[in-house]
Amino acid sequence: MSVKVSYDQDCRMTITGVDCDCGCEHHAIDKDIYIGKDLLPRIPEYIRKRGLGTNCVLVADDNTWRVAGERVEEALTESGFTVVPCVIHREGDMLPDDLSCGEVLLSITRETEFLIAVGSGTVTDTTRINAERTKLPFVSVGTAPSMDGYASAVAPLLHRGLKIQRPAVCPEIIVCDLDVLATAPLSMIASGVGDVLGKYIAKADWQLGEIINGESCCPVCVEMVTGAVNVLVDNVDEIAAKTEKGMRILIEALLLAGVTIMIIDNTRAVASIEHNIAQYWEMIMVQKGLEPPMHGASVGVSTLLVWPMFERFAKEDLSRLDLENIKSRRISREKRERWMRHSYGEEGGSQIMRENPGDFLTWEEQERRIRTAQARFDEIKAVIAAMPPLERIKAVMTTLHAEMTPGEEHIPDDLLRRSMHCGKDYRTRYTLFKLIDECGLLEEYLADYPYPFE
Ligand SMILES: [Zn+2]
Ligand SMILES: [Zn+2]
Repeated sequence: MSVKVSYDQDCRMTITGVDCDCGCEHHAIDKDIYIGKDLLPRIPEYIRKRGLGTNCVLVADDNTWRVAGERVEEALTESGFTVVPCVIHREGDMLPDDLSCGEVLLSITRETEFLIAVGSGTVTDTTRINAERTKLPFVSVGTAPSMDGYASAVAPLLHRGLKIQRPAVCPEIIVCDLDVLATAPLSMIASGVGDVLGKYIAKADWQLGEIINGESCCPVCVEMVTGAVNVLVDNVDEIAAKTEKGMRILIEALLLAGVTIMIIDNTRAVASIEHNIAQYWEMIMVQKGLEPPMHGASVGVSTLLVWPMFERFAKEDLSRLDLENIKSRRISREKRERWMRHSYGEEGGSQIMRENPGDFLTWEEQERRIRTAQARFDEIKAVIAAMPPLERIKAVMTTLHAEMTPGEEHIPDDLLRRSMHCGKDYRTRYTLFKLIDECGLLEEYLADYPYPFE
């Protein structure tokens, strides 16, 4: 097994070596992904090849219209397409909120056959939800390598001031022009890199799930993501200099992360505790009217926060665990319910508990997990030993002038401490944090982030 990524003469990505007989259900990669130089004039040809029609709404904001939207519209119009531009004007940054979603919806007519999003996260998600609701296909033209959500099928949105996630659709065609990507400011590029670095945590957590709970861990998806992240770490100077090679490496890593979502139909290969924590910051900060950091930037910082827990656990002596003592200190079901509502709010907490009914463990199950960890500790250590040294990750982020601490991202201290405790509770997905908790060690490991709760 060896995953290989190549491009045909149209700059369309082809991936071979994805045959796999792991326990996960696999889906074919049936979307067209184009990465290359000078691709904007070729978009009409790409759309024709896919037969999406000739009548579209093109969504952009002021900035993405300037860097690419206008040229895409010209290329399409010259080629005989009918284009209704929906350029969203805002004083500050455009948000994926009710107003933006409504503007796109009202630009769609009965004649509209497909949508085009020219932008990064916000524009793409605003278009994605409309594509899903109107059952129209959509094309994504990326303008910044800032996050791994281009190929996602979920739309994070703002509804009445609250952060929500809605099931949506993946674009039929993704076009990333390397010259356009290089116009993105370094902070957005650093954000994309932060999002990618988190994949080391996602991989380790997935492998722990396999060891402790017999979860199916897909070697193809792991290889696809790890290969891309390793190349990125080795070429950070190219990325910082925004060379063609650097932009290709970064966008490839971000898109391959998305490809694993297409293959196994979930985000296991690309998101774990580091994403839970980052999303928690965003959710609470939006609720409080604070401006959250860029998605990838906060994933980068939370990756640095959780990484030392892995290193520490690898040096743990699990024979010191006193099972009777752990049993006597177990959280009661009633207290856990209070904790979930305290952390995620009345509605959010209840919903998470409904969707993850197995998260409150019986003692028998907790004991089984502890004993499995003790028996298979060498394998756990090998998973952690396969992670690169934390210093290497920090060096990558320093080269990109990335934000490195929660302080630089203006995460309130109380929120930081709470997030370190409740990030693991966001869903059943297995993480090192869950294992540490099951071993009765969480308070000890989080001594630097005290958050007493009675
Ligand atoms: Zn992400
Ligand atoms: Zn597989």
